[in-house]
Order: sequence, then C-alpha cells, then structure tokens
Amino acid sequence: MNRTRNIAVTVLFALLGALVPMATLLYFNVNRANDAARDRLQFTAERTLLRAHRAYEAGLTALRQANASTLEPCSAAHLQLMRGLVINTVSAEQMGYFQDDRLICTSWGPMEAPIRRPEPDHLTADGVGIKLDVRPLAGNGVPLLALYYGRYDILMNPERLVDVITDPDVRLAVASPDGRLIAHQPIADPQLMLDLLRAPRSGMDARTLFATAQDQQWLAIATAPRTPLVASIRPLLWQFAPAGALGAAAAIALAVWLSRRRLSLRAELATAVRRREFFMHYQPIIELDTGICIGAESLVRWQRPDGSLVRPDLFIPLAEDTGLIEALTDQVMDNVIADMRDLLVQDRSAHIAINLAAEDVSSGRALKVLTQKLQGTGIHPQQIWLEATERGFIDIQRARNSLAATRRAGHCVAIDDFGVGYSSLQYLQQLPLDALKIDKSFIDAIGTDSATSPVTSHIIDMAKTLGLFTVAEGVETPAQLAYLQSRQVEFGQGWLFSKPLPPEAFAAFHWQRKEQYGKARENMQNPNHSITD
Ligand code: C2E
Ligand code: CA
Ligand code: CA
Repeated sequence: MNRTRNIAVTVLFALLGALVPMATLLYFNVNRANDAARDRLQFTAERTLLRAHRAYEAGLTALRQANASTLEPCSAAHLQLMRGLVINTVSAEQMGYFQDDRLICTSWGPMEAPIRRPEPDHLTADGVGIKLDVRPLAGNGVPLLALYYGRYDILMNPERLVDVITDPDVRLAVASPDGRLIAHQPIADPQLMLDLLRAPRSGMDARTLFATAQDQQWLAIATAPRTPLVASIRPLLWQFAPAGALGAAAAIALAVWLSRRRLSLRAELATAVRRREFFMHYQPIIELDTGICIGAESLVRWQRPDGSLVRPDLFIPLAEDTGLIEALTDQVMDNVIADMRDLLVQDRSAHIAINLAAEDVSSGRALKVLTQKLQGTGIHPQQIWLEATERGFIDIQRARNSLAATRRAGHCVAIDDFGVGYSSLQYLQQLPLDALKIDKSFIDAIGTDSATSPVTSHIIDMAKTLGLFTVAEGVETPAQLAYLQSRQVEFGQGWLFSKPLPPEAFAAFHWQRKEQYGKARENMQNPNHSITD
C-alpha cells in the first residue's frame, strides 16, 4: 500500500518535473515563433505597399511625360513615344490618348472606332483617376487597371502590384484607401478580408495572422495561416528534451529525498516508541457557564533526542501508516495515568480525554488495554473520556460494538473534529456517542461572513437533536465565547482559556480555576461573572 503510494508519488513528481519546464519552454517558444511570424508578415505588407506605390509612381511619371509631349496626336512619332513609355514603365501594358474624352489611339496604333473614356472608380490625391477591371480589345483577356491623367491613360497589370516574393502560404492584396480591392491573390478568408478593408489593422485571430500597411494611395494587406501548434513545436522538440529530462531527474531526486526523509523519520519514530520518547500536554476544558475547568484533553508530544519537537499532525499519521499507533496509544494511556492519577483521585468531577486513532476504535483493542491499565489506579472509568474521529467509524458495525462496549465500561465517548468529515445525521444516530467536539474551523468562522459561518449553528442544532453535549475546540476570542454561551454550548477549550500545558501546570490551572469559579455554580444568577478573568 505504502510502496504503491511512494511509487505513485515519485512518478507524479517526475511527470510534473518533466512537464513544467517543457510547458514553460513551449509557451515562450510558441510566443516567440508567433511574434517572429507577425513581424515577418508586417514587413511583407510594407514591401507590398512599396511595390504598389512604385508601380503607381512609375505610371504617373509616364503619364506626366506623355502629357508634356507636343507631338502631333496619333502621328507615328507620337505612337512611338507612347510605346517607349510603356516599355520603360514596369507593369505597364498599354498607353492611350484621348481627344474630347474619346480614346483615339493607343501605343498599339490608332483606334478603328473611338471609345468613350469611362468614369474612374476612384480619384487619387494626385488627381489620377483609377478604374478597375478594364479589358482592352488588344489585351489577352486579363482585367487590367487603368490610370487616367490629363489626356492619357496607362493600363497596368494589377497582378504586378502584389508580385512580391514571400512565403508560399502568404496572401497579398492591394486596395484603395477607401477599401476597394484593386489587386489580390486568392483570398483565404473573405470575411476577414472584408473586415480588414473596412478597418485596416495588424494582428491575429484563431486561424490567421494579418498585417496591413497604408499610404495615401494604397492599402496593402498580407495574411498567413497561423502555424498549427504541433508544427511550430516540432522543430523545438530537441530543445525540450534535455530540459524535460533535467526537470524529471530533479523531481525524481526530490521525491527520493522526501521518501528517504520519511523513511528516516519512520525509523526514528519506531525507535522513539521503543525508547518511550513521548510525553503529554493537557489542554484545559472549561464549562462555559461557570468557567470551571472540568478536565483536559491530553495531547501527545514527541521530543527527539536532539531536542526538536515534532508536531503530532505529522507523526500520528505516520504512526498510523506504519503500524506503530497501537504502541503509541498504549504509551499515551500510561502517561495520562502516571501524570493525572493524583489529580483524578482528588477531584472525582475531573476527567481527561484521550485521543484514539481510527485503528484503536475499529479494533476495540484500546478499550481492553485501558481497562487493564486503569485497574488498581483508583481512577474511575468515568474520568477517562475517549475522542474518536469519523475515520474510526468507517466499519460502522465494528465501531458501534466497540463504542457500546466503551460506554458500558463507564467511559464517555466524543466524536472529534466534528463537521470536517461527511457523516450524516442518520449515520451518527446509529452510533452510541456522548459528546460532539466542534472542529476549530467552525469556531473560527463565528462572527465572520464566511460560508462556514451558518454551518456552525447547524452543527450545534445537530448535536442537540442527537442528545449529545458539545465541546467547542479552538476558542480564541471573547466574541466566540459569547456566541457559544448564547447557543448553550456546554464546554470549550482553546487559547482564550489556556494553551496545552505540562502536567504540573495543568494541575495548578485546574485548582486555581476551581478556587476562583467554584462559587459560580451557586451564583449562576449573578450576571456579572466573566469566566475568562
Ligand atoms: P485535535 O484532537 O483536534 O487537537 C486539538 C489541536 O488544536 C491541538 O493541536 C491543540 O494544541 C490545538 N489547539 C487547541 N486550542 C487551540 C486554539 O485556541 N487555537 C489553535 N490554533 N490551536 C488550538 P496538537 O496538539 O498539535 O494536536 C494536533 C492533532 O494531533 C490533534 O488534533 C489530534 O488529532 C492529534 N493528536 C494529538 N495528541 C494525540 C494522541 O495522544 N493520540 C492520537 N491518536 N492523536 C493525537
Ligand atoms: Ca481531539
Ligand atoms: Ca479536534
């Protein structure tokens, strides 16, 4: 059982150790890869803008030169001039001359029938009209882009505007600043394109990275699919492997170290049981109405040979795991009898509560041992209370038998840490109990607006329904005390009254309280008494 758990814990540590550095690296690398892709795309958009701008500027320059010509329109020399301008202008396909808004000749030659000049779709800041989708008679069927300026137009192949060398999955588009697409490669996500035309920006969505660049005449848009996570990780895997391995190794080392420590603590605990290194402290239990100390809860302490104290929440579970708990409980009983015998014999109304482990309750062994140990001591069984947690009640039949026998022997039985577990009211009704100890967490909640706060009241009601008396654990403030008194909780323990004390200090506390508050029993009517003075 323990071995399996150790192995499971080690494996878990190793996995975490491997995964945490890998995930961290992954996170940063994926982010870095994303940032790099976005930078690259932005750069592409800017290059595309530059390209479109250059093509436009070249076209405009050619148009200006043509307009400056004084040659006889459509003469051989004039046609020659237009041809020369077309040849020398990148991405220009054809140039045309208009007279009275009619195209009468082009760089190809005179028109058979003049064509009316169409209305441009868009006018640039330079006064250049732009028309999309122009299909000249002499062309090869590719829709062209026309720039009109003065008496001339120049036709350009729009594909040349987006003719930028990029990664194969990048798509480019050029538009007018008012959002008209002028040239584009096949569009991957039309909705996104519409969006970007309306509101140009750079960024990314779930599937696509996008970047835009803009000047007065043009808007360039570049989009690229986001690299799938797996693909972006693959080239980085070689980086993760050593980090993961290192993390796993560190985590395994930590797990081994922890389990060694636990093993050594376990060995030390076994020795401590053999050497009887345990002693007891006693925390006074106060009758809340009167302030009288009616007894104490015994709390075991372990001081190692080097003088350091180990907390019971640490070594009790370890003793339970390793089968040392029964021997430990036996020593607790011996200690309680040795420490408290005189006091219990002198004050028959006093009691000491002993904490039982789950195993002590379900086996029923603790009772037999206790009965034996009490013989001849003069301590009455009524003076020893036993505290058991719900963990001891898992086998309810055995728990019931064991608790019933304990009560028959004259002991009082309390359910400890009540409210922390899951016991239902019906479940508890089946158990022969005398008292209920309300766990400190519920006392802490008193007077706060935490979610636990109303539960405290329910627990008190539950105890009343079951006919049990209640002991509040961990009472620290006068406000908590006032609340408990108002709810008729019978007993309490906690730092408000006293911390756990060594045996002699507890005896002194007990007698002093008796002296101070003994009269209170008779003076219960006196409303001015305060039990914490
Ligand atoms: P528990 O039975 O709930 O004991 C109450 C714990 O609350 C004790 O801690 C006590 O010192 C602490 N306490 C009491 N009043 C206050 C308070 O006002 N404020 C605060 N903050 N704490 C308070 P301790 O002595 O460390 O014991 C821890 C647990 O160890 C106990 O919880 C009990 O479950 C276990 N234990 C202690 N002694 C024995 C023993 O002899 N046998 C067994 N089986 N378990 C024991
Ligand atoms: Ca207890
Ligand atoms: Ca408790």
